[in-house]
Amino acid sequence: MRIMTKFGGSSLADASQFHKVRGIVEADGDRLFVVVSAPGRREPNDEKITDLLLQCAERRRTGLSFRPPFARVSERFRSIESELGLNVGMERELADIEHAIESGASADYIASRGEYLTGLLLAEYLGFGFLDPAELIAFHDDGTYDDETTQRWCQKLSVKERVVIPGFYGRKRDGSIKTFSRGGSDITGAIIARAVRADIYENWTDVDGFMMADPRIVENPRIMELVTYSELRELSYMGANVLHEDSIFPVRRARIPIHVRNTNKPEASGTLIVPDGSMGVQRRQSEVTGVSGRTGFTVITVTKDNMHKEVGFGYRLLRVLSHNNISFENCPSGIDMMSLVIDDRNLKGKLDAVISEIRQDCEPNTIEVTSQIALIATVGKGMVRAKGVSAKLFGALRDAGINVRLINQSSSEMNIIVGVEQRDFEAAVNAVYRAFAK
Ligand code: ASP
Repeated sequence: MRIMTKFGGSSLADASQFHKVRGIVEADGDRLFVVVSAPGRREPNDEKITDLLLQCAERRRTGLSFRPPFARVSERFRSIESELGLNVGMERELADIEHAIESGASADYIASRGEYLTGLLLAEYLGFGFLDPAELIAFHDDGTYDDETTQRWCQKLSVKERVVIPGFYGRKRDGSIKTFSRGGSDITGAIIARAVRADIYENWTDVDGFMMADPRIVENPRIMELVTYSELRELSYMGANVLHEDSIFPVRRARIPIHVRNTNKPEASGTLIVPDGSMGVQRRQSEVTGVSGRTGFTVITVTKDNMHKEVGFGYRLLRVLSHNNISFENCPSGIDMMSLVIDDRNLKGKLDAVISEIRQDCEPNTIEVTSQIALIATVGKGMVRAKGVSAKLFGALRDAGINVRLINQSSSEMNIIVGVEQRDFEAAVNAVYRAFAK
C-alpha cells in the first residue's frame, strides 16, 4: 500500500499543528509521500504565509519596503523551527530569500518560498527526505502546466519514498519558478499521487469532509462519507469546493481515490471520493448523495408549432448561443418548445441580441424570458435503482409551498435538476436536504 498524503495550510499553521501532522504520518507506515502547503491561519484573523509573501512581492513592485510583511513571515518560520527543536538552517534560508527579493526575484518565486520552507521543516521533523518540486513539476514557457515533461521528471520518484515535497510550484524550462493558481498544492498532491501510483491520495485539511449541502444554507449538514468522482463533479459545479478543481483530474484519470480528512479530528471518517463503479458505492444506503445549487439563471423558452418535426431547429437555436459566445447550463424541452437555461454571468449585456437572433433564425411563435431563477441539483448514483426518488423530491418541495419552474434529469439518472424562483432557493435546498438526509 502506498499513500500520498497532502497537508493543507491550516494543518501546518504552527508548531502544534506540525506535531499533529507527525502523529498522523507516523500512525501509518504506508504514508510514504507527503506534500505540503505553506502555513495558513492560526485563528480567523491571522494571515496566511502565502498572502504575506505576495504582499512582499507587491510592495517591492510598487517601491514600498517589503520588510514589514517579510519580518512576519520570518518570525513564523523561526518559531516553528525553534519550538520543534529543529535545525534546517532557517536563518540562512531567510537571508537568501530576502536577498532574492531585493534583487528582483519574481512574484512566483517569492510566493513559492512558503511551501519550500515548510517542506524543509517537515522533512526534518519527520526524518524524511526533501524533494524540491522544481525538479518534478514542469511548466511551459507560457506558464501553463506541462504534463508530459512532468511525467518524465517524476520518473525519479520510482526509487524514492519517505519524502516531503512542497506543493504549489514547479519550474519552467528556463529554470524560473512558476506557481499554480491559489490553493494549488492540491494539484501537486494529485500529480505526485498519480506519479507514484498511490493507492490513495489523502488530503488533510480543517474540515470533516464534503457536506451533503452548503452549511451557509442548511444548518449542520451531514458529511458525505462516500462519493464518486462524477457525483462530486455534479455537486461542485454548483456549490462550494473543498478541493482545488484542477486537482481532481490527474487522480480521477488514474482511478486513485481521494480521502479528505480533518487534521484536527483524525478519528473522523472524512469523505472518500472513489472512481465510478467502485465497490462499496453499490452498497451505499442512501439514494441521494448531496444537494447543491446556485442562483442567478435566466430561462429563455421558445415555442413553435410542429417544432418536433422541424429538422435543425435545435441546431439553429443553439447556434445563436454559440454565435454570441454563450454557454448554457441545460436545455429542457417539450414537443413544441425548447428552453435554454443560462447563467446570468454569461448572458450579461447580450440578451437583446440573443432574442432578436432567435426571432430571425428560428421564426418561433413565442419567446419567453424568465429571470431570477435558481437551480438545485439533487445528486446520487443510487437514484437509478431506487424507486420514488422524484416523488420524494417533488413532495418535499410541494410541502414547503415551492413552485417548480423547470425540471431536468440527465439520462445517466445521476441527478435531478429543478429550477425554482430565486426567492425560494434556500427553502427549497432545505426541503430537499431534509427529505433525503438520513
Ligand atoms: N499556499 C498556497 C495558497 O495559499 C497554495 C496552497 O495552499 O495550496 O494558495
